[in-house]
Amino acid sequence: MKKHVVLYKKLSPALLARLENEVDVTYIDDPASDGLARLRQALPHAHGLLGASLKLDAALLDLAPRLEAVASVSVGVDNYDIADLSRRGVMLTNTPDVLTETTADTGFALVLAAARRVVELATLVRAGQWTASIGPRHFGTDVHGKTLGIIGMGRIGEALAQRGHFGFNMPVIYHSHSPKPAVDQRFGARHCTLDELLREADFICLTLPLTKETTGLIGAREFELMGKDSIFINISRGKVVDEKALIHALQTGQIRAAGLDVFEREPVQTDSPLLALDNVVATPHIGSATHETREAMARCAVDNLLAALRGERPQNLVNP
Ligand code: NAP
Repeated sequence: MKKHVVLYKKLSPALLARLENEVDVTYIDDPASDGLARLRQALPHAHGLLGASLKLDAALLDLAPRLEAVASVSVGVDNYDIADLSRRGVMLTNTPDVLTETTADTGFALVLAAARRVVELATLVRAGQWTASIGPRHFGTDVHGKTLGIIGMGRIGEALAQRGHFGFNMPVIYHSHSPKPAVDQRFGARHCTLDELLREADFICLTLPLTKETTGLIGAREFELMGKDSIFINISRGKVVDEKALIHALQTGQIRAAGLDVFEREPVQTDSPLLALDNVVATPHIGSATHETREAMARCAVDNLLAALRGERPQNLVNP
């Protein structure tokens, strides 16, 4: 008899066919709200789950006694209690690597947009307010040659360093648990403490995972250490930052600008003070959101799940 998979992320016809070739599939649209009752009904039969952006808590897992594997269509695994899944004997997989370059592209798009005020000035043009040559009031700041500070020198951090070093001639400094000699050598980069990075970098890019250790890592004290011309970029997770402190830093000119792909609450509330600030470029969590990369992530998740359900070791096992 075929095993049963609950799918809560829409797949392309080709990937769905690949999945259905080996397992029975129940598709749940919008499991976090409208689809929750259907999800709860489907969980008792589920051997596998595949999806993203759903907090898979103990109450949901208690409904799924047959569960063998969860394939997350993301690299971040902050929606899962990994220790609890391991205790239950449930494998968790993620989709690293395939999204690295695209997410770094998003990071650099935010660097450029925030520095050159692209969104603010494009909005001005659309509003018919480009009535004379642009003067100093609307000038931006250079990116090339400035110091790029990367907090979290992992896969995405390294791809950002590559763009900064080779593309924009930027000195690169970074903070992570340990120095990365290969990164130092390739990009002439330097490992430093968090405080040194905050003081020295012109562009401060967050590429950390959200963990107990990183929750609220960047708060009022950290924004005070940044220079008033610094630009803060977050492509990691909103909760790594104390958003109130960020808003204060932007409103009071403690920092120059921010490029934000992630927020404490998502979707960001429409009345968030962040959205009223000209010096904020806000994007709707689009780090990996291209056709090619989202398909590659879904393919990776399908492969991981099918391997796990066949009794093989999936390539991207998070809890070995
Ligand atoms: P990764 O390769 O695991 O890199 C994470 C890096 O963070 C590692 O170098 C690690 O340092 C460092 N780190 C972790 N905790 C730290 C701490 N407390 N202090 C200092 N450094 C710490 O992960 P990745 O593939 O680059 O992805 C990073 C994160 O980006 C994901 O977890 C996800 O949340 C986020 N992301 C967002 C989007 C988006 O759409 N915006 C897309 C993809 C990913 P060590 O190596 O020294 O341990």
